[in-house]
Amino acid sequence: MKGFEYLQSELDDMKKEGTFRSLVPLESDQGAKVVIKGKEVIQLSSNNYLGLTSHPRLRKAALEAVETYGAGTGSVRTIAGTLTMHQELEEKLATFKHTESALVFQSGFTTNQGVLSSILTKDDVVISDSLNHASIIDGIRLTKAARKVYKHIDMTDLETALKESMDFRVRVIVTDGVFSMDGNVAPLPEIVNLAEKYDAIVMVDDAHASGVLGENGRGTVNHFGLDGRVHIQVGTLSKAVGVLGGYVASTKTLVEYLIHKGRPFLFSTSHPPAVTAACIEAIDVLLEEPELIEKLWDNTRFFKDGLKKLGFDIGKSDTPITPVMVGDEALSHEFSDKLLEYGVFAQGIAFPTVAKGQARVRTIVTAEHTKQELQEALNIFEKAGKELEII
Ligand code: PMP
Repeated sequence: MKGFEYLQSELDDMKKEGTFRSLVPLESDQGAKVVIKGKEVIQLSSNNYLGLTSHPRLRKAALEAVETYGAGTGSVRTIAGTLTMHQELEEKLATFKHTESALVFQSGFTTNQGVLSSILTKDDVVISDSLNHASIIDGIRLTKAARKVYKHIDMTDLETALKESMDFRVRVIVTDGVFSMDGNVAPLPEIVNLAEKYDAIVMVDDAHASGVLGENGRGTVNHFGLDGRVHIQVGTLSKAVGVLGGYVASTKTLVEYLIHKGRPFLFSTSHPPAVTAACIEAIDVLLEEPELIEKLWDNTRFFKDGLKKLGFDIGKSDTPITPVMVGDEALSHEFSDKLLEYGVFAQGIAFPTVAKGQARVRTIVTAEHTKQELQEALNIFEKAGKELEII
């Protein structure tokens, strides 16, 4: 069919530059090892930090929910699609995050979009870290609020932006808790101090910190001892929690407001019973099996040390997200392809997900990996890295 030649020419350019990527379908469940093109390889690309996607308790909860409540909900939450289990999950999340209330959205992406687009008007200003996630950027784009972007984790720049913003009705500072491509943690204590000095609201996207940092994985706010001082915590149910969805944990006022004004919440059908039941079980697992988080961090230290000893540049990550810096876009994909050929699935990440010249292979170990698997992965990184002269 004619009509998309202009899109095809852009794709052709990407193929010439070596940045065109095909989807990589898994032929197995998610886990420490996965099957790709009939071959078992070590998985280092998922956000399945604790291995909960395949945890027997989550599988069982999902199956039982399908048996009892069926496959879908047939409506948006505000019409006929709220099940008691949706509210049970929200109560559990609020308790877990030490907040008054919580509200679940269809995904982490739509949570950021829904929250930002609802609470900001033309009378307000939003002040955002330059490396915030795409869903925050898109959420801001949906508002008429004034916007300021401060240099990544630069507190002097943030303070300047706050000083210049005193005439607005509301100032909202928004930051990732853990930055998804570099794995560094936001300087939340400093951000909160500045917010209190300049009377601003703080919103933290803890997609990569929930289940990873803080007591039982409560996230960066708890990790820094800032419970009660951060207005809005966003989390995902799709990464360490292992299922699907996003949520906002905050005050009763904000949650009630979002039920009436949060467009993705209002206009998109609620989560199926299997998803919700598995998420409820996952929170119980976080509370009852803290050894999973200990194992995640133990594996993280082992793998980071191994990569460093081999001479790789692994950036400045403080978390299980470990970028193996390559620089060149095409080389990052070549590296990833070679790793896959030798038995490791670790995706290349290039522009526009990260800045030009900052391409990398991004790795995330999980609690499920054994030390032998991680050592095998390190051996493969060494072999591929030497062949491509990255080390
Ligand atoms: N925020 C951050 C920082 C993320 O990394 C992601 C996932 N890519 C999201 C939000 C979106 O979460 P979800 O995949 O649940 O939509």
